[in-house]
Amino acid sequence: MAPHAELSNGYSHIYGIPPQENKDLLEVNSPNVVYTDREIKSKYVYHTTAVSKSGGRYVATPKETAYDFKVERKVGKVGLMLVGLGGNNGSTVTASIIANRRGLTWDTREGPKTANYYGSVVMASTMKLGNEAKTGDEINIPFHDVMPMLHPNDLVIGGWDISSMNVAAAMDRAAVLEPSLKNLVRKEMAEMKPLPSVYYPDFIAANQGERADNVIEGSKASMAHVEHLRSDIKNFKQSHGLDKVIVQWTANTERFADVVEGVNDTADNLMKAVEQGHAEVSPSTIFAIACILEGVPFINGSPQNTFVPGAIELAEKHGAFIGGDDFKSGQTKMKSALVDFMINAGLKLTSIASYNHLGNNDGLNLSSQKQFRSKEISKSNVVDDMVAANSVLYEKDEHPNHTVVIKYMPAVGDNKRALDEYYAEIFMGGHQSISMFNSCEDSLLASPLIIDLVVVAEMMTRISWKLEGDSEYKKFHSVLSVLSYMLKAPLTPPGTPVVNALAKQRSALTNIFRACIGLQPESDMTLEHKLF
Ligand code: NAD
Repeated sequence: MAPHAELSNGYSHIYGIPPQENKDLLEVNSPNVVYTDREIKSKYVYHTTAVSKSGGRYVATPKETAYDFKVERKVGKVGLMLVGLGGNNGSTVTASIIANRRGLTWDTREGPKTANYYGSVVMASTMKLGNEAKTGDEINIPFHDVMPMLHPNDLVIGGWDISSMNVAAAMDRAAVLEPSLKNLVRKEMAEMKPLPSVYYPDFIAANQGERADNVIEGSKASMAHVEHLRSDIKNFKQSHGLDKVIVQWTANTERFADVVEGVNDTADNLMKAVEQGHAEVSPSTIFAIACILEGVPFINGSPQNTFVPGAIELAEKHGAFIGGDDFKSGQTKMKSALVDFMINAGLKLTSIASYNHLGNNDGLNLSSQKQFRSKEISKSNVVDDMVAANSVLYEKDEHPNHTVVIKYMPAVGDNKRALDEYYAEIFMGGHQSISMFNSCEDSLLASPLIIDLVVVAEMMTRISWKLEGDSEYKKFHSVLSVLSYMLKAPLTPPGTPVVNALAKQRSALTNIFRACIGLQPESDMTLEHKLF
């Protein structure tokens, strides 16, 4: 078959370099870590502190829990199916992966630029592994090298869109990438055509109606839609010889679905509601159900409540992985870093005023009140845990004022502007104002997150664990809260707290990966050279 050809069954895909060999770039030298051909097996002792309060004093008791971890070493061939393939994010991430795979360089007015993965934690950041045995120098290694991990260059990409435009034309419509780069990837992008999708007009803005020319028959929930999507996934897997598929929602923001008792509150009720074509079942929930039943991880990159309680329960029942919500790309990423810093520095943040304007199709969709409301909710709760953690600065239930405004301004296109004012009370009644202006292509911030989400989610499918002494290994909980760093309103297993502080989210990601290969967290106490 010629490279980049359209397959006879109507699917197109990108292929070029065969999957890279999955070789370990790090070896752990410990009696607690065993490498077999298929697996890395490790023993890990988790050190925590159990706290109780007695007579007005805290009593802290160090605790140790021993775990066994097991990591499958073979990554296999992985497919990424995007819902919203023809959107700004969908077309940008596809073009960027092709450009990276082919090692492309293109001309710009600033001179030549070469494909990279900047903005991806997995591909472009490092973690401190430890200290050099003799000199004590810090050794930092690429995040990607810690365990055998999927390389984004090896992804086979496909997906759905309610717009029938081929992905090259969609890339032009998005107006994100340089013309010189687009010309280099145009041919293979033109061969990629999104599969028809589920479209229930009530869930996205009316202004999206015009592009909906690629839809599966039926405008309300049905089991036929679930089955249609399941067979799309099966066909994609089969026709590309894939070991695994991961699906991400990067389609338009939907309105929230009402959570109604008897409709979407339990797994059984949700399935009944689908059969009955209930008006409160959204297209994104239909995708979630199809993926859960197909045993394929599903990640929601938009703010709506795709994962109604019934969908979460269904995922738990089937042991399928889900993750969400809403890519944390620009303003909120800065917010969860800055607020974490300010409150941990002892500064009493009293208000945050956040204003955005953008001119892409996402902005057009968000100019409709119900869809904006979904975004407003996901952007609003991001500082709650950091505030609640500091009882010196804040009374119980006291919150800083927090306002979020989004306006549609077609002229700026994908080049989103975000303006934030942080107002804080400082020492002895004084005040501090920090104003921030953030401007960049929205999709160039979101695309690396799509990559991180697929790489980390894939990694989680290969890790299992058990308490020392238990006979059976098990998988992580269905709700992958380890993806929190990349998401604005992180979904966590029912009854567990949400952590928004960026530094904690990154430590969780780093330390879980270290634990899997039997390594303790780096405590940074080595900063004190004389002590340690
Ligand atoms: P976009 O409007 O350019 O792309 C969305 C695509 O989804 C469109 O091509 C549309 O036709 C398609 N679509 C709509 N409903 C569909 C359905 N039911 N099935 C299949 N396709 C459907 O938007 P974008 O800029 O690519 O952003 C995508 C999503 O990601 C938005 O919800 C946005 O809020 C969210 N998001 C983006 C960023 C960012 O770009 N920085 C950050 C956070 C969240």
